[in-house]
Amino acid sequence: MNPASSGLSTRRDAAILIVDDAPENLAVLRKLMVEQGYQTFVATSGERALKIARRVHPDLILLDVVMPGMDGLETCRQLKANAATARIPVIFMSARTDTDDVVAGFDIGAVDYISKPLRMAEVCARVRTQLQIRSNSETQEEQAERLRTIVNSMAEGLLIIEADGRIQFTNPACDKHLGYQENELAGRAISELLNPLVAQEYLEYFARYAASPEMTHSHGTREVIIRHRNGSSVCMDLTLTPMYLRQPLFIGLLHDITHHKQSEDALQRAAMVDPLTQIANRRHFDSFLEKEWQRSMRSGQPLSLVVLDVDHFKLYNDTLGHPAGDTCLQRVAGAIASHALRPTDLAARYGGEEFVLLFAETGAETAAMMAEAIRAHIESLRIPHPRSTTSEWLTVSIGVATIHPHQLDNTESLFVAADRAMYVAKEGGRNQVQSTSTGGAALEAVKALVTR
Ligand code: GH3
Ligand code: MG
Ligand code: MG
Repeated sequence: MNPASSGLSTRRDAAILIVDDAPENLAVLRKLMVEQGYQTFVATSGERALKIARRVHPDLILLDVVMPGMDGLETCRQLKANAATARIPVIFMSARTDTDDVVAGFDIGAVDYISKPLRMAEVCARVRTQLQIRSNSETQEEQAERLRTIVNSMAEGLLIIEADGRIQFTNPACDKHLGYQENELAGRAISELLNPLVAQEYLEYFARYAASPEMTHSHGTREVIIRHRNGSSVCMDLTLTPMYLRQPLFIGLLHDITHHKQSEDALQRAAMVDPLTQIANRRHFDSFLEKEWQRSMRSGQPLSLVVLDVDHFKLYNDTLGHPAGDTCLQRVAGAIASHALRPTDLAARYGGEEFVLLFAETGAETAAMMAEAIRAHIESLRIPHPRSTTSEWLTVSIGVATIHPHQLDNTESLFVAADRAMYVAKEGGRNQVQSTSTGGAALEAVKALVTR
């Protein structure tokens, strides 16, 4: 679009260039155009007309066909050949109204043809009509230009999708988000970008809309995983709005939420992890236990809880300092966590120098073996504990409880049993494993046993 001419006719009176080699014709036309409120310029030759047109960018040119030197047809050709003047509408005026002459005029880009002798009312009407058309098309072009600028510069990815799932258009942000070159996505199917189930769901929505556009609502926004050109996955919000434009179309807006997602994940992770040891915290363990408990109730599989407490840890801190104690807890945590290998196992720091482990679908015997392996592992770390009265090295006391959960029991009862077993281990001289198996209803008997 020519910036110098944009919106001129709306900002001031339209400017009309009148070209005729006969000065008396010029005078009559100029008077007429001025009466209509137009600004006028006149030229008596094609050469003058070209010069003036380039300078003043008239909104319309009334051009005589028959002139000495450069005639109207050639003048028009040159106007059309120059970018600065190509878009100015030209109306030919001529006594030569043979069909061939008229067609020749239109062929080289004239918008209208007025026959001479001129009938003034007709001239006015034709000029008015052409100015109106020009003003409308300028408005449309401006709107299109505005839209183009927005679409090209927006940070959100934009796709236009046809009802069969074919991508018709993508904007630069969309190409950038998904790693494609300009125009590379056009013509491809959205199923190349989405997981098959999600793509199917969209296609069904498209078909529903195509079948009855007035009945179908906007699809709204949803989180989708989109395949990047390099094979990685990008997490995005996709907002889909239908639009009927000769055919059903869908405007997709893509908003990158990867960063948002990453910090969300980080927060979620932080809420589940003990900062000192980087293993699960109490909160995470409790909700994990609750889930496994329910699962165990349905499956009838046993559930084993292991409780570990570092021996003489207050003494360790007092002897070697709190920072050494922290390091020690990290090593113990690492050792314990290395024994929670299945997806249904979880090791956690339950508080202070106390750790827990859940072994789902694990009976008492296996759990006791696992606990003994952990005890031996920690002893084998040979972390010196100079003032311990029970070992040269840092050790743990372990209690194990196994249960077949049913409606009458709760997780609390499992903890009570394991804790009590652990205290039996402490009293038995520390650095050892004590187990108890509870059958829910048999819990009381076990309690009586371990409390002696
Ligand atoms: P026992 O063998 O009977 O378990 O004796 P203990 O000294 O280990 O038991 P007690 O419960 O008396 O002491 C626990 C100590 O653990 C006290 C506390 O200072 C220490 N402790 C708890 N949390 C941390 C921690 O995050 N870092 C360090 N360095 N020490 C901790
Ligand atoms: Mg303790
Ligand atoms: Mg302790």
